[in-house]
Amino acid sequence: MTPSSLGILGGGQLAQMLALAALPLGVRAVVLEPDPQAPARLCAEHIHAAYTDPNGLDHLAACDAVTLEFENVPVEALARLEGRVPVRPGGTLLARSRHRAREKEALRAAGVGTAPFVPIEAEADLPDALEQVGGRGLLKTSELGYDGKGQARVNSAVELNAAWERLGRVPCVLEGLVAFEREVSLGVARTAAGEVAFGPLVENTHRDGILRTSVFPARVPGGTEDQARDLARRVAEAWGLAGLLTLEFFQLPGGELLVNEVAPRVHNSGHLTQDGGGISQFEAQVRAVLGLGLTDWFPLHPCAMVNVVGTADGSEPDWAAIDALPGTRRHLYHKAPRPGRKLGHVNLVAPERETLHARLAELERLIP
Ligand code: AMP
Repeated sequence: MTPSSLGILGGGQLAQMLALAALPLGVRAVVLEPDPQAPARLCAEHIHAAYTDPNGLDHLAACDAVTLEFENVPVEALARLEGRVPVRPGGTLLARSRHRAREKEALRAAGVGTAPFVPIEAEADLPDALEQVGGRGLLKTSELGYDGKGQARVNSAVELNAAWERLGRVPCVLEGLVAFEREVSLGVARTAAGEVAFGPLVENTHRDGILRTSVFPARVPGGTEDQARDLARRVAEAWGLAGLLTLEFFQLPGGELLVNEVAPRVHNSGHLTQDGGGISQFEAQVRAVLGLGLTDWFPLHPCAMVNVVGTADGSEPDWAAIDALPGTRRHLYHKAPRPGRKLGHVNLVAPERETLHARLAELERLIP
């Protein structure tokens, strides 16, 4: 088999784990990333330059294909690559998924339900906006928000005006507050030839706006996975996906799924696929992007993930106790600790669900 190369825009932990998944497939990763301490530098060729650096981009253009690990890649970078090397997902899809209002409009156009929302572009959009979404909502910046950043809960017109000021009067979306029963997510991959494959349906919990745990299998009513796959296929086909994307859903009490967000890449909720015995989401993205043959990817055993996030008081997980818990595996990102920063995750695999949940409760006690 001819060794091949994969260019990655961004060098964070997702790039690190993509690069690690690529190696056994005979694929070397090259990352373009301005941060000298980027996690992926340890296992990939690191082009230490701005995302728009012409030489850096020319280096990526020499790879067999280019993918990304975050959606806020500058448009100029994509423009320099497109036409020279396959960029998957491509610029049109990225332009949608990096902008909350455009993303929601494109989801609705594909026949996929979302929370009620009103785009807030200017002060004139503020009056009446809260009523239109049901009286209580979340104001989110349309661009550059992640892990609960760039968001504010609002319960009155006064709070909405204040929140918009605080967020810098930038374009936002006001979303109605969804009284969901649970949050789940699912990955979908599509090759340039139009082959579609799916990841597992995973159940997620959040803490302070940041993902805390993911669990497979998700505890959901019958039919939920088919519904999620149907919605994911619709988005993948309507948006002309080449590569992998992840949908985050809210499940309503009646069972209906609304899409909260789409990430044009592997996702934190899919990390448990690294240790469930099947193909990981990282391998699936590498395969989809390079056209290496694709099947559904899902764990063969019940498994879970707990994120390790920097704490305000600097307290750390009890690593010795974590290592002593059967079925755990550490995945650390080699990042300097900071409160609220994702530093790693611990995966847990167990022979059956009851054991998984008992050990997950124990694992959660060991990770502050
Ligand atoms: P996001 O950054 O949009 O993924 O939001 C982070 C988390 O905030 C979500 O996973 C939910 O737990 C919560 N959240 C976001 N939007 C809403 C909403 N419209 N209604 C209720 N909860 C929400």
